[in-house]
Amino acid sequence: MMCDDARLLLHAYLDDELDAANSAAVAQHMQDCAACTARYGTYATLHKALAQPSLYRRAPEALRERWSAARPAMTVTSRPPRRRAPLAFAMAAGFAGALLVTSPAWFHVWRQPALGDDQVVAEVISGHVRSLQEQHLMDVVSTDQHTVKPWFEGKLDFSPRVKDLASEGFPLVGGRLDAVDGHGVAALIYKRRLHVINLYQWPTEAAATAQVQTQRHGYTVIRWRADGMQYAAISDVNENDLKQFVLAFQNEVGAPSGR
Ligand SMILES: [Zn+2]
Repeated sequence: MMCDDARLLLHAYLDDELDAANSAAVAQHMQDCAACTARYGTYATLHKALAQPSLYRRAPEALRERWSAARPAMTVTSRPPRRRAPLAFAMAAGFAGALLVTSPAWFHVWRQPALGDDQVVAEVISGHVRSLQEQHLMDVVSTDQHTVKPWFEGKLDFSPRVKDLASEGFPLVGGRLDAVDGHGVAALIYKRRLHVINLYQWPTEAAATAQVQTQRHGYTVIRWRADGMQYAAISDVNENDLKQFVLAFQNEVGAPSGR
């Protein structure tokens, strides 16, 4: 099994939905592939975070009643030709209903107060380390911000800010999906000479903050919030280079010529 096939099956593998042969093939592939194992680890973390009962709310009675009343009507309006159509229709309706019922949970995830700073720093560092393992650095490889930005569309429910900082000595090299603090996040990958800088971003409702810098395990992490986004930049470049990177990104984002 190749990585592309394994990636397609990872979610089903995680949910124990594969037949024995495919399940064994995925397990076998992961034994030999650090990248897919890391990806599986990310999914498992997210899966676990989203399974917390505290995230789920029962839909309000009024909504449930409206929904129950609406469903038979929708089944009737479906045309008679195939016997299975009403069932498929009802299933689709049920699925849409499930989305309605569970979507407040997503809002709740975004609104949840951020985990402790320590936890975020630890997750950012482990995401960075994971990304440096072979094949896992980038999902989209491009030095063009106009390629990288659209790549994220439909994969996240926000639009990340993407800037090429090549003129400042930090060329953009690609992007990746990752998970931090229970959020699906955008990771932009920049280079500084031979060093890799990962810039994570995800939406926040919290107020803007100044930069907070943390040193740990030989990495520098700089976090800040601005314009409804939480940012975390991490690298093993020297501290001053990373500060310069953050400054360059902030200036670009704020520049009138930007976006
Ligand atoms: Zn693989």
